[in-house]
Amino acid sequence: MDQERTARLAARCVEAFQRRFDPGATFDGLTAARAPGRVNLIGEHTDYNDGFVFPMAIDREVVMVGRRRADDTVRLYSVDYDQESVFELSRVEPDLGARWSDYVWGVVQVLQEAGFRLGGFEAAIAGDVPRGAGLSSSAALEVSVLTLLDALFDLGLDLVQKARYGQRAENQFVGVACGIMDQFVSAAGKAGHGLFLDCRSLDYQHVPLHLEDARVLVIDTRKSRELADSAYNARRQECQEGAAFFARRIPEVRALRDVTPEAFAAYEAELPEPVRRRCRHVVTECQRVLDGVKALAAGDLEAFGRLMNASHASLRDDYEVSCRELDLVVEIASGVEGVYGARMTGAGFGGCAVALVHKECVEAVRQAVCRRYPGETGLTPEVYEFTAAEGAGIIDLAGA
Ligand code: ADP
Ligand code: MG
Repeated sequence: MDQERTARLAARCVEAFQRRFDPGATFDGLTAARAPGRVNLIGEHTDYNDGFVFPMAIDREVVMVGRRRADDTVRLYSVDYDQESVFELSRVEPDLGARWSDYVWGVVQVLQEAGFRLGGFEAAIAGDVPRGAGLSSSAALEVSVLTLLDALFDLGLDLVQKARYGQRAENQFVGVACGIMDQFVSAAGKAGHGLFLDCRSLDYQHVPLHLEDARVLVIDTRKSRELADSAYNARRQECQEGAAFFARRIPEVRALRDVTPEAFAAYEAELPEPVRRRCRHVVTECQRVLDGVKALAAGDLEAFGRLMNASHASLRDDYEVSCRELDLVVEIASGVEGVYGARMTGAGFGGCAVALVHKECVEAVRQAVCRRYPGETGLTPEVYEFTAAEGAGIIDLAGA
């Protein structure tokens, strides 16, 4: 955890809490929770096919500071939007003037439906995960709410519950059909490690990132993701068709994750396009995650970089979820010496690319992107360097 960054966010929340809710509030009477955003290193569009993913939590997070109330009222204040939102536990409804609060009341609603008894509470929220960039500020917000409520009301939530309830809040109350990866890694990430997750069993493994002199760079294309939703639903549909095709031929297949590269090769000629290519992406991407985890665990950055490049090509050509802007930043980054590999990350059609870069070459990548990208796209990119952070937890306010 980046202690200073966390302490700064927590201090902003405490200060806002005092200003909005109670000037006399002290550290002793407040609880603080944090949850990070994430970047997926490899394993894209595999989660809803019961497959493997390999994200890491990043050193950007959402922090919430709050306390219980004696009644059933929930009062929220967002530092970043400078906005308050209020609702009653018995009548949770979206606040159309404060859409950010959807994520909080979504979580509250999901917990109540699952039978947890909550009480009223008041909390201030601040974060530094770039919003809407594909780095999962939404999951960070959901998981920070879950972590705060877990502590305030002794819910006894485990990691899997946090991930599932966060995902459910986003699916049912925000209306985004995301998989479970984002919330899972926000809840379960580990500093210095990637998280290898089996999206079917939810078995996971913290894999030490032996990056040595390499750095994880994220390049935000700043391209808005207009096509993303309809294309996402279309891909899910095509994957279901593919899975049904294989299930008719191989009884063990329940999802594309169960289709081995050999089984795919044996039957692919019978598959219609574009379903054949969609399936090929998922089958090969699952294999790339397995190979990539092995490569990184062994410190083989070159091998991991090659897998990232192959992942991008597959997302671009077979899965067709890239776009000109993502292809361009990946092309620019790949052309710089000292870059092991680069790929689009997240759902696609905009958002971010991730690159593994030798530390001496970080500046060169930044410069190359800033020199060429704006002229060809009319957009101003953002380049971040992230380290692998610890998953969600409670912050010791007195020590922070
Ligand atoms: P992403 O998850 O890729 O960042 P989303 O559109 O899924 O993008 O989620 C972004 C939304 O999450 C924001 O529009 C806002 O409603 C909410 N959000 C994220 N961070 C914060 C924050 N620090 N304070 C309040 N709301 C936030
Ligand atoms: Mg999101």
